[in-house]
Amino acid sequence: MKKQKLFKMSVLVYIQTLEGKATKAGLEVASFANKMNAGDVTALVAGSLSGDGELGSVGVSKVLHFSESATDNSQLSKLTHAAANSVNASTILFSGNIEGSSVAPRVAIAMNSGYVAGVTCLPEGKGFTRNVYSGKATALVNVNSEVCVISITPNSFGIKLDECESAVESFSAEIGSQRVVINGFTPTSTDGSVPLPEAERVVSAGRGLKGPENWGIVEDLASALGATTACSRPVGDMGWRPHHEHVGQTGVTIRPDLYIACGISGAIQHLAGVNQSKVIVVINTDPEAPFFKAADYGIVGDVFDVLPKITEAIKEL
Ligand code: FAD
Repeated sequence: MKKQKLFKMSVLVYIQTLEGKATKAGLEVASFANKMNAGDVTALVAGSLSGDGELGSVGVSKVLHFSESATDNSQLSKLTHAAANSVNASTILFSGNIEGSSVAPRVAIAMNSGYVAGVTCLPEGKGFTRNVYSGKATALVNVNSEVCVISITPNSFGIKLDECESAVESFSAEIGSQRVVINGFTPTSTDGSVPLPEAERVVSAGRGLKGPENWGIVEDLASALGATTACSRPVGDMGWRPHHEHVGQTGVTIRPDLYIACGISGAIQHLAGVNQSKVIVVINTDPEAPFFKAADYGIVGDVFDVLPKITEAIKEL
């Protein structure tokens, strides 16, 4: 049966790669593009690419490969703009991670197009659904410009396998010289765990841990679960943990399958970054802690007793 397109258009999707392969966020946004415009998706990759970067597995029929590295927002937006013109793209998609959120609006301005950030599901007609008010409500945004740039909230759509032949073509464009290098532009983590924005399981801790010397119990649970560690803002501000682990309104927004909050009160600013997680588990000594209202599972207890027991139980499993 012929696959159906939701829109009659040409779709370009910008893909981040790591060691030559599309990142998880890249495969997710490519899956989204494929569901919008079945079988007619062009991906743009800058830097290292091995084969088709596994993009054929999610229905990308053509990959434009810019072999030089472009790590500056301004270079990446010029590159995407040039690629969008070359395939006459009417929709340009980015993952709404740190890089995508920085580059997408620049492309929208350069192309004088509509821009919708933080889209969470496939469009209805020309309307895109996005979360507003820290995920408490959704808005349907109609785009009436000819060209539209959108970014997809990471972990909102998932990876949808749809094997196809993917043709790789080299692509060149004049993007000028690099002006700024942003550390952490490529999604990496220092301890070899999955980078926080891409993690499916996250163990996060707050001031209830009392001090940085106690983080061993958090790391043990994270390692037993294959999870990434995160923290509340004061923990980052006090230097107990590195700033890139801080989640919330002013930190990283995440949407993992499992979020375990240990000794975190659940202030609105913290919840803003984590309340879209699929399953939330809260461990807190205070039964009145606001986090319990957002929890799927709650344990009223002391993290110093509870965490080692959970870790032991998971190891036994
Ligand atoms: P606390 O509020 O001190 O809570 C500690 C919790 O641990 C308490 O609930 C306590 O009952 C529990 N506890 C204590 N001992 C134990 C134990 N032994 N076992 C189990 N539980 C225990 N915060 C963020 O996290 N992210 C943000 O992005 C963010 N942005 C902000 C932006 C603005 C503009 C402002 C004003 C604030 C922001 N904050 C943010 C701060 C936020 O308001 C809270 O102050 C912060 O989240 C509290 O961190 P916490 O839960 O770790 O600490």
